[in-house]
Amino acid sequence: MNDVLWFNGRFTTTDERVLRVEDRGFLFGDAIYEVFKFVDKHPVFLRDHFKRLANGLKAIEIRNPWDEESFVATMNEILERTEFDDGIVYIEVTRGEGERAHFYPENLTPTAIAFSRRFNFPDGAKKERGVRLISTADLRWKHCDVKSVNLLANALAKKEAQRKGGDEVLLIHYSGRGDIVRECGSSSFFIVKNGVVITHPLDCHILPGVTRDHVIARAERVEERLIDVSELDDADEIFITSTTLGVMPVNQVDDRAKRARGPITTDLQRKLEEAELSRSPK
Ligand code: PLP
Repeated sequence: MNDVLWFNGRFTTTDERVLRVEDRGFLFGDAIYEVFKFVDKHPVFLRDHFKRLANGLKAIEIRNPWDEESFVATMNEILERTEFDDGIVYIEVTRGEGERAHFYPENLTPTAIAFSRRFNFPDGAKKERGVRLISTADLRWKHCDVKSVNLLANALAKKEAQRKGGDEVLLIHYSGRGDIVRECGSSSFFIVKNGVVITHPLDCHILPGVTRDHVIARAERVEERLIDVSELDDADEIFITSTTLGVMPVNQVDDRAKRARGPITTDLQRKLEEAELSRSPK
């Protein structure tokens, strides 16, 4: 079954080769991306994803080809044309095409694409069992709050974790003043201690996760503060979040075995699933 590709206003499928070699997204990673999930053809947290996309484009001075309403309309049309009911839509906006040069012209026309994809979301057993994290140094750039397509450091770190038997990588900032847990290669990171849900504050070191926001809004007690690696030893619960994973328990970090899904993780899983399925607003 074909997916649907929207390319600069035209509908096709990902079988068509649409990009020019001298697109700055390809040559310089000069682009912002976004991913949202859809269930029964209903987009989940679509407007939150638009807002983050808009913020990222503004941060690197790329013109946004959409306003919020035209974005929502385009994404819903992609879903209507898509033959399957559940999956993800990947969106990317690059600075556009131009002769390869670091100094970019000011007024390039952005290249915008969005395509639907089937996706195997974790099932109930996986959401109960949880995942294993392997830690490594966070070697990413200093604007991790911008969802740029430059994911080489994330991809290499995730591959290293996979080779060591992990499902996801935990990125650590090692410093003389303590070793700070940032987030995962493609998910946000949380610990629970004495009933308090603790996560890294929003700054340039982590991505402002859409799921992170929804989880924080539904947790009873939250602290957004730096987490030292030593706190992993006696955390009551650990979980990670992302658009595709939802709230996912962590059952092991390196050689620290943690108990599987705890009560707060279970409660937040349920609350997030309810929020994902609520039909407001499209
Ligand atoms: N952190 C990083 C580095 C990510 O790449 C992602 C998702 O891709 C997340 C966190 C989770 O963000 P969201 O909940 O918006 O999917």
